[in-house]
Amino acid sequence: MVDDGCIFCTIVHGRADASIAHEDESVIAFMDLRPVNPGHLLVVPKTHSVGLEDLPEDVGVQVWKVAHRLGRALRRSDLRCEGVNLLLADGEAAFQEVFHVHLHVIPRFTGDPFRIGSDWRVHEREQLDEASAAVRGGLAALDASQR
Ligand SMILES: [Zn+2]
Repeated sequence: MVDDGCIFCTIVHGRADASIAHEDESVIAFMDLRPVNPGHLLVVPKTHSVGLEDLPEDVGVQVWKVAHRLGRALRRSDLRCEGVNLLLADGEAAFQEVFHVHLHVIPRFTGDPFRIGSDWRVHEREQLDEASAAVRGGLAALDASQR
């Protein structure tokens, strides 16, 4: 499926400029237009999926595989890279801005400008167990819906 209003679909079909670093049958990877640091890549499935909900798992595997390789490639490149973040924003509340699923591969170095703010306090075991049970419930619901 192609979404004509989607900038990433436009890039996939060669109708918009992009600095492509990798391309295979199901995935394309190009430089982020507004990089956190030089070398910041986006790994994008060639078929239009909005997010995790409609991304086929096998395509997700290929997206990860390519991101994994690119992260290793960054460390071997001439770009400054002391660490790598792989980041996927699924949904507006998670800072997704382009609604064609993509995995960021971000080269990092000490003192760079990238920040993720949070309240990093340790939660009680009871809270963690409750959250774990809720996730298991979600997995059961997912399994039930795929039967
Ligand atoms: Zn798209």
